[in-house]
Amino acid sequence: MAEFYHEGDLVAVLTTQPLDRLLDYRAPEGGCWQGAHVEVPLGPRRVLGVVWGPGQGDFDPAKVRPVGRVLEVAPMREELRQFLIRVADYTLTPLSAMLRLATRAPGLGEGPALRMVYRLDEARPARMTEARERVIEAMQTFGGAALTLGELAQAAGVGTGVVKGLVQAGTLREEAAPRDLPYPRLDPDLGGVTLTGEQAEAAGTLSAALHSGGFGTTLLQGVTGSGKTEVYLEAVAECLRQGRQALVLLPEIALTGAFLARVEQRFGARPGEWHSGITLTERRRLWKMVAEGGVQLVVGARSALFLPFRDLGLVVVDEEHDTSYKQEEGVFYNARDMAVLRASLTGAQAVLASATPSLETWVNAQAGKYGRVLLADRFGAAVMPRMRAIDMRAEEMGAGSWVSPTLRRAVAARLEKGEQALLFLNRRGYAPVTLCRACGHQIGCDHCDARMVEHRFLKRLMCHQCGATRPVPDACPACGAEGKLAPVGPGVERLAEEVTAAFPDARVSVLSSDLFGSARALKEHIEGIAGGAADIIIGTQLVAKGHNFPLLTLVGVIDADLGLQGSDLRAAERTFQLMRQVAGRAGRAEAPGEALLQTFQPEHPVIRAILSGDEEGFWKAEAESRHAACVPPFGRMAGIILSSPDLQAVFDLGMALARNAEPLRRIGAEVWGPAAAPIARIRGRHRVRLLVKAEKGAPLQAALADWLGQFRPKGDLRVAIDVDPQSFL
Ligand code: ADP
Ligand code: ZN
Repeated sequence: MAEFYHEGDLVAVLTTQPLDRLLDYRAPEGGCWQGAHVEVPLGPRRVLGVVWGPGQGDFDPAKVRPVGRVLEVAPMREELRQFLIRVADYTLTPLSAMLRLATRAPGLGEGPALRMVYRLDEARPARMTEARERVIEAMQTFGGAALTLGELAQAAGVGTGVVKGLVQAGTLREEAAPRDLPYPRLDPDLGGVTLTGEQAEAAGTLSAALHSGGFGTTLLQGVTGSGKTEVYLEAVAECLRQGRQALVLLPEIALTGAFLARVEQRFGARPGEWHSGITLTERRRLWKMVAEGGVQLVVGARSALFLPFRDLGLVVVDEEHDTSYKQEEGVFYNARDMAVLRASLTGAQAVLASATPSLETWVNAQAGKYGRVLLADRFGAAVMPRMRAIDMRAEEMGAGSWVSPTLRRAVAARLEKGEQALLFLNRRGYAPVTLCRACGHQIGCDHCDARMVEHRFLKRLMCHQCGATRPVPDACPACGAEGKLAPVGPGVERLAEEVTAAFPDARVSVLSSDLFGSARALKEHIEGIAGGAADIIIGTQLVAKGHNFPLLTLVGVIDADLGLQGSDLRAAERTFQLMRQVAGRAGRAEAPGEALLQTFQPEHPVIRAILSGDEEGFWKAEAESRHAACVPPFGRMAGIILSSPDLQAVFDLGMALARNAEPLRRIGAEVWGPAAAPIARIRGRHRVRLLVKAEKGAPLQAALADWLGQFRPKGDLRVAIDVDPQSFL
């Protein structure tokens, strides 16, 4: 039970300001609960905070100011407070940054006022313009969301005058609506599909776990198309029947569209959405409704984990192996792991769904820490594609060509049957390198230690680290020779050029995240392809993520060796997952699929594991080799990234840290480095890394805090701590 503080009592307030301590205030008139969201004076400003506990009394009592006001939103529950504390401790993040994550909704302090929203009437304006059409289109897309003037104009990309003109024309109606309405109720019993025996068994296991009423984690593993989504939607239904809330995390915004439609079909209404693509008004509404219980199901990106759920009963992490669950700026957290933590604190069930689980999760399931339910078969007639290697050593490749004759014949055969083919290459742009044939210079970014990548559609060179772009020059910036710059190596755009030349009658479509202005444009493009608008799809890893292309029967991987070269400890795991996921795109409907992997090393153990489909065998071997090396998940790691515009300063601090590693040695941990990071400069900041390795049970965080606490980095020197790093760049 939360503490109540009477007017005048000393309370400690955690604010969203970057101070590393709590501040004392006096409880306001009427008192306040622990957990209350408050506005407090800080210097000349008023800032957002949460009443964290009793005041510490180490300020001059005469100078302690009263809390400004208590906001009209539900107080933070003890469970969320504990969650923020635990995540802060685990990731070595200041609590104020955690509070910022947990209050990322604007206008929480505003009362339940009215606002003007717009509705679409049947009548069409007598005079139709392109801008007016865009407004009507936006209304049709976001109709249910009751947009305000500003939001509607923004969504349509027009001035507010266009919207007002449509009101005058009688096409739009203006009406006053209360802010922050509850979401429409979902009906768990509306009826889903009839589950197969295997699916019903899996759903039964998850339901039983929900009925246990406590915490538990289950790995839901099944090949792409086996019905994992159908199964976990049954668990969502069960959770809703129990009157608790459910959260589904998805790795990619572009996927939410299709998913929302599925939820609507299953439960009769749309769930709440939480990701960077929603309006600020919706953000605030969702935040408040989550806290009040006015929304039953939330579909969101990783930060949805920090929403103030009233009674969270189920968290699903779909595609749990996806690397985008790891946030690598600000608070370095892994949403998959933190989902399990939150579930444990709130007595909820966590379901981790994947066709190719992360090794961490697989090991936890093997050890019995997580339950495991398996879906072995694809739904209906669909079967996993046949997988084969194309031995590139035996293929005759022309200059500037990346599609082997064997792959080309396979594509031609599919096109003849009216089926789709996907060529996968995980490289955006036209060519990864632009080289001067006169002097050998490679065009690099001015701000980063990275090559500029040519993007021919945009007619520019682009840095994939910082996003800087510039026109492709005529002359070499190093030697001045004209007309000597040449692209080296393939990106998806260059591959598209080759494919278009080879198949002049085919409709070729490139799917790469940089080619679409908005999430909506991307979504529409994907839906078009699924409907048959392309014969050959050329895609980056964007296509590996859960999209359903029923006509697709052939997947060709242009360079299966690409991911194997790095020294990253997860290189094998990532390649295995990516190749299996991409191959899984083929043959989802009736027509059987085929996956062909172009490789120069068909005997490589990872390539062989991918082809054989012996997933358990692969994970066992991978687990053994990591165990032997004492690396995650059998040992612990933390990356320390130092950065500054001043190269000397970063190395000096790095050396000092390495020399003063006593706190780490005490727990038996090792420090490696300092070493220049593989990307040694980003946005003009030099980067140096240290790597800490410890045994699994070692109290790593406390030791890291002691170690790093010895130094106060000055000036523009930044220290980022990455516990359980996924990236080593
Ligand atoms: P996964 O999440 O494992 O990739 P999905 O749940 O998306 O699989 O299922 C793949 C396709 O098969 C979807 O279109 C889904 O609606 C359909 N499907 C799966 N199970 C059933 C079922 N029991 N009855 C009808 N359709 C099903
Ligand atoms: Zn750059």
